[in-house]
Amino acid sequence: MRAVAIVLGWLLFATIAHAVSLISVKDEIAMGRDAQQQVRKTIPVLTDSEVTGYVGRLGRTLAARATGPQYPYSFSVANNRDLNAFALPGGPVWIHRGILHAAANESQVAGVLAHEIAHIAQRHAADQITKQLVANGFLGLLGAVLGNDPGGARTAQVGARILAGGYLLKFSRDDERDADRVGLEILRRSGWDPRGMADFMDVLRREQGRDPGAVDVFLSSHPAPAERAVVLHRLAAQHPGGRRDSGAFRSVKTRLSRLPPAPKSKR
Ligand SMILES: [Zn+2]
Repeated sequence: MRAVAIVLGWLLFATIAHAVSLISVKDEIAMGRDAQQQVRKTIPVLTDSEVTGYVGRLGRTLAARATGPQYPYSFSVANNRDLNAFALPGGPVWIHRGILHAAANESQVAGVLAHEIAHIAQRHAADQITKQLVANGFLGLLGAVLGNDPGGARTAQVGARILAGGYLLKFSRDDERDADRVGLEILRRSGWDPRGMADFMDVLRREQGRDPGAVDVFLSSHPAPAERAVVLHRLAAQHPGGRRDSGAFRSVKTRLSRLPPAPKSKR
């Protein structure tokens, strides 16, 4: 009886989690704003206006081509030498300085930003939070029915924890593939060579061999670069052409090389 109830619960959960989002666009933006404040307290922020201005312009050009709700996109640079980038719910995008150092040209950086914008535009955070809320709600409910868990209290606790730790949300492998596919479209529609996104996977592989620690976080949250490269190269080959580099990116590279080096993150 207990097994049947659990199976039914999970079936119901799977159906609902894919059909609706319990989080509105407004909720998402508010959660992202809270998470952004937390991130700013924990991550060293690069404040050099030449670099941040450049990344902001690049990001806004790409975000203008994103489909989906009109999110208040923003772009910040972490003064950190790791190769990492992430998106918070409802608009904030972060790119680590290590990406700007490792990227060979502008289309590669634009590819990284486009992938993160796609996570936001496709509402992956809202989906993940919905899944967790529904899963925990159902588990609590089942526990209450079966008399072995004070369901309500735990559900509220879990909900609060999900919201508080919003920026640590893990996306699913499907979300990552979706962000690659949609991000590549955003990159292409914005006029960059979509091969930049595929080529950056090769940069990640190279860095993985040179300084494994610098790509640990990124690789733990994304499918293997080799696997992504195969798909991205195939998709990019369907739409060859577009901008690859710019004088502005070269200037930013020079500028970065003159700034004090970024600290390594604590690992
Ligand atoms: Zn991703």
